[in-house]
Amino acid sequence: MGEIMGNFRRAINNTSLSRFRFYFQAASFLLLIYGGYLALNLGDQLPTFACIFSEPRGGSCYLFGLQHQMTTPWTSYLSGRGIGLLVGFLTFIAFFIVFNKAWCGFACPLGTIQDWLTALRARFKIRYANYAEPTFQRLKKIKYILLALLILIPMAIGNSFFGLPKLNHDFGVPFCMICPGRTILPLFSGDFSQLALDLSSKSKMILTALGLMVTGIFLSGSFIKKRFFCLFCPMSAFHYIFANAALLRLSKDAGKCSRCGNCYRACDVGIRAIADDLQHKNIVKDDCMLCGKCVEMCPEEGCLQVKFLGLPIYQSTAEGFFKRMQGRNNAK
Ligand code: SF4
Ligand code: SF4
Ligand code: SF4
Repeated sequence: MGEIMGNFRRAINNTSLSRFRFYFQAASFLLLIYGGYLALNLGDQLPTFACIFSEPRGGSCYLFGLQHQMTTPWTSYLSGRGIGLLVGFLTFIAFFIVFNKAWCGFACPLGTIQDWLTALRARFKIRYANYAEPTFQRLKKIKYILLALLILIPMAIGNSFFGLPKLNHDFGVPFCMICPGRTILPLFSGDFSQLALDLSSKSKMILTALGLMVTGIFLSGSFIKKRFFCLFCPMSAFHYIFANAALLRLSKDAGKCSRCGNCYRACDVGIRAIADDLQHKNIVKDDCMLCGKCVEMCPEEGCLQVKFLGLPIYQSTAEGFFKRMQGRNNAK
């Protein structure tokens, strides 16, 4: 029995997680974008950018509902609306806590589109861009600012802050108005309506124009930089607040790390700490998408591990590393 388990573990550690991930992402994309055709409904509290503006979706992003709920006055949180807010939040947490940031690496349609654009760039043999570390550290803060704004702006609709006039309802879902998910994902169902400028009011016109601009930046940025948008994504910031409570984890045994830097070079987001951090066991950083590429590329036995409930489900091994390297060289 022990031998069978050992062989099974060995086979898993020798596999190409990236290949599995490619197919998993494609399946998630189909289910989240077209799941409605199969009567799939995962609800509106998903910790991923499946967009509520896209039909016939199989579920949608929590940020829309969160912004919408924040527009009500403080006092109403003490009534039934407060219960609605709590139920929505707990549903989001329940989804998130199981897979942690793997929602980004394996399920998010916007993440998948960025990976497809990267694959397209690679086909054209165009080199990708990387940020210098100080720039990376500065830019990553933007997602926390966006997260704060997407909560505070809707709050300023139902409440008056510091005696200032309340905002009008055009700002009810401010992040959705500029999110590339709103403009791009409906296109996969043949719906081009979100590409139009909304001229019904000045604020709507500004927001929809901003949305188109961000869409252009998303598409061009993702073509030249791997996971370009994820660095600025407020969902990623929101995830990270709860990441320590998640069941799926990426862990590192610093004693086994040779500081070769393979993991950092493999990381599409460019997280240097995955190689440099020798302090933390739980190595999931705020920009991590739990894709496991670093684990695949680590040559040290058991140095990096993906664990579920504390049990290793995929770990770095010398044998797995050399097999994957061999596979890549043969494919060239
Ligand atoms: S960080 Fe990227 S993959 Fe994660 S929710 Fe945002 S867009 Fe999607
Ligand atoms: S640190 Fe590892 S798991 Fe996280 S995004 Fe980078 S390569 Fe993927
Ligand atoms: S690939 Fe493994 S051994 Fe090399 S720096 Fe990263 S964690 Fe350390």
